[in-house]
Amino acid sequence: MPELTARGMSSPSQRRVYLDSHATTAVDPRVAQVVIGAMTTVFGNANSIDHVYGEEAASLVECARVETAALFGAVADDVYFTSGASESIRLAIGHAIVTRASRGLPCRVLASSVEHRAVLDALGEWVTAGSARVDYIPVDDRARIELDALRAACSRGVDLVCVMAANNEVGTIYPVAEVARIASEYGALSLVDATQAAGRIPISVEGMECTYMVLSAHKMYGPKGVGALISPYAVLGAHSHTPGVGYGTPNVPGIAGLGEACRLRSLEMLGDECRIGALRDSLQRRLLSDIGELEVNGDLDRRLSGNLHISVPGVPNDAVVARLRRRVALSTGAACSSGAQSPSHVLRAMGLPQWRQAGALRIGLSRTTTESELEFAAYQLVRAVHATRRAMMSA
Ligand code: PLP
Repeated sequence: MPELTARGMSSPSQRRVYLDSHATTAVDPRVAQVVIGAMTTVFGNANSIDHVYGEEAASLVECARVETAALFGAVADDVYFTSGASESIRLAIGHAIVTRASRGLPCRVLASSVEHRAVLDALGEWVTAGSARVDYIPVDDRARIELDALRAACSRGVDLVCVMAANNEVGTIYPVAEVARIASEYGALSLVDATQAAGRIPISVEGMECTYMVLSAHKMYGPKGVGALISPYAVLGAHSHTPGVGYGTPNVPGIAGLGEACRLRSLEMLGDECRIGALRDSLQRRLLSDIGELEVNGDLDRRLSGNLHISVPGVPNDAVVARLRRRVALSTGAACSSGAQSPSHVLRAMGLPQWRQAGALRIGLSRTTTESELEFAAYQLVRAVHATRRAMMSA
């Protein structure tokens, strides 16, 4: 069993493999170096620019703004730093609702039925307050959005359309430029949740008619607790980028880390994702051959390269995850057959049969995943599935 040291880290006395990169990614050591530099050397307050300490910190923030904008084809002034995607989403939705509130009617929102909880919950609060009304756009059994349904819904009147760029459970990639264009045709604002897509697939706001795009550093090898909202609107007020009058004390180390993560993704994303995709495909082949009965969920033609979402018939996902928990970190997503967690709204929206929801396992590869780790993980996973099956049969 791995031991906990005084610093809370495990000693490597037992091999273990991390395959939960949709939840979070390991910080790239090059990013960590930038964060440490910003904590120890450039420690000034970026809003206190009466001296060079503050000026240096402000300049780090501005460099990060440029790097972040560059990865998403944005104008640097349109990048607002936040504590992560959840805060960015709340800011964007709040801004949209207040912008459209002038008519004195609830804001009419369309959201895909597989949006992340951060979007659904933020919208829910505005609905409860009587300021918004939400209709959901259906998806098919691969979690693909139905654009005709979107158009039909828009034609009945809409103020804001919310769609994710890639799904956090099954990895399906969405045609966000097309969605934003349809929203704009009907005079609506649009929010693109790029949290899972950012740094994994090319995604650019340049020429895209989206009003808000959100992202988070910890999904792209950056630190936790920092993200961005990209919007041509002055979402945080006209002076939010002006040093000395900015919005609170900026999280300079986190922001510098996000900037560095974006710079590295600009350079390395395509190569990394190509390698990750080849590893994922070989793991998929191996599981299909060694487990036998198995369904792969999501859109196999358009999914994130690091995503492998499977369902094993008759094998409850929580039992498998429990057997693996010290050796292989993978996830049930939100779908837990024990009932301890609520069933996945994504798998339900896809209309998957009960066994595919109950047996769902989400595997997430990253740039640090190696062939040897996958060999180990596949062996452990196949063993856990067979052992769970045997236990179910003898119960
Ligand atoms: N949106 C999506 C698609 C996500 O996957 C997540 C996190 O899992 C979030 C939003 C929330 O991100 P954060 O952890 O930065 O608040």
